[in-house]
Amino acid sequence: MEQKLQELFIECVKELNEIGIDIQNEKQYGKIDIIISKRNNKRYGCCKQEEPDRRYKIINKIGRRRIIKYERFNKHHIEISPWVMKLENDIIKNTIMHELIHCLPFCNNHGSEFKKYANLLNNSYGYDISRVGDKRQDFEKSNVEFIENNNYKYKIICKGCNQEFFRKRLNRYFTRKYRCAKCGGRFETINLVNK
Ligand SMILES: [Zn+2]
Ligand SMILES: [Zn+2]
Repeated sequence: MEQKLQELFIECVKELNEIGIDIQNEKQYGKIDIIISKRNNKRYGCCKQEEPDRRYKIINKIGRRRIIKYERFNKHHIEISPWVMKLENDIIKNTIMHELIHCLPFCNNHGSEFKKYANLLNNSYGYDISRVGDKRQDFEKSNVEFIENNNYKYKIICKGCNQEFFRKRLNRYFTRKYRCAKCGGRFETINLVNK
């Protein structure tokens, strides 16, 4: 899986190169590394920035408060969520590209500069880069069953009708206190984290 990620990453780098963005030019954009994240996040991916460039310091004054922001970083650590790797290559690449745009100066958020590059890539290569992805659609497209339990700690199953649902927190008396609203059956809980 890690090798597949590296291969797709290189494809993305090449595509950026073809439209004049030499993303691996460390002097210009900083150093970028990419891994599959250790934990299952809800997000497709993230880009953790390190070593802010002092030349790109921006100070915003809100009343008496000064908010310091940096618009360029020397290190970028991209993490792609493991569940993304189960999807189609173009969706994985879409995620990689999204995070690569965040490595460009003034693109750390989803503002106008981010949109500019997203549109450029969407128009040049048919990407579908947006602020947030559509999980349900991407799973369907990849023929992978959509289960949005990435962030849940507990799975609850009704022993009567087998319906399932997910919870982040669970009252420890849950199975004693509650019955299924559909069939009146008892619940069984499965801890997803310790599994
Ligand atoms: Zn983003
Ligand atoms: Zn039931």
